[in-house]
Amino acid sequence: MAKKQFKTESKKLLDMMINSIYTNREIFIRELISNASDALDKRYYHDLESGTSGVTREDYTIRITPDKDARTLTISDNGIGMTKEELESNLGTIAKSGSLDFKNAHQTGDESGAEDAVSEEGSRESKEKNVTDIIGQFGVGFYSAFMVADKVTVTSRVQNASNAYAWESSGTDGYTVEEAEKADAGTDVVLHLKADTDAENYSQYLEEYEIRSLIRKYSDYIHYPITMMVTKS
Ligand code: ADP
Ligand code: MG
Repeated sequence: MAKKQFKTESKKLLDMMINSIYTNREIFIRELISNASDALDKRYYHDLESGTSGVTREDYTIRITPDKDARTLTISDNGIGMTKEELESNLGTIAKSGSLDFKNAHQTGDESGAEDAVSEEGSRESKEKNVTDIIGQFGVGFYSAFMVADKVTVTSRVQNASNAYAWESSGTDGYTVEEAEKADAGTDVVLHLKADTDAENYSQYLEEYEIRSLIRKYSDYIHYPITMMVTKS
């Protein structure tokens, strides 16, 4: 299946996320949990409006599943879900990207990798601040997954839909959307974690203790239950 290309702005942002010198990579968890929570809000109000009975607020949950063998971390929700078209338009484009000043964030215009372009501490700090500002102001959100993952698969299903779909991308070379298996409505975001390097430890995001502490740190305000799914070995 042919790969589809990201819009130019999304591509630049994605590139920035992948080659990020931004040290606060762990915020990906905040962004993905907040998306799951938004999706649960939408489902909740949708269900209220349509008068769907038998569902209480307690039924809406966020599940976090680390899998050491597969080296994946999955963030799941039983929220509103996305259609095939929504997967493409929501994850293939950054809606507010028009406002982003990439020139500012990519001061040197160096395409080969942000790391090389930074020679002194001062410019590193100011670059990092720019990235932080962008994440803070525009909610770069979903794309932050690429700071820790070299492949991301998003499988989603909307209520009463005949099919589920999987969006998948390994970064700037584009994405695919294909029919997939998923029984219930909602979304699974599967992060295929990067390999550890001397400088970065990505395996930590598979550790129950580490994940719990990140959830406490960043997602304490979320008003849906967040459940850790751990397999006892
Ligand atoms: P934002 O949350 O600020 O809109 P994101 O980059 O975090 O930006 O997410 C982009 C869009 O993708 C969201 O607005 C939403 O429409 C969709 N999306 C992301 N994650 C989910 C999810 N778990 N369930 C449903 N839709 C999602
Ligand atoms: Mg978001």
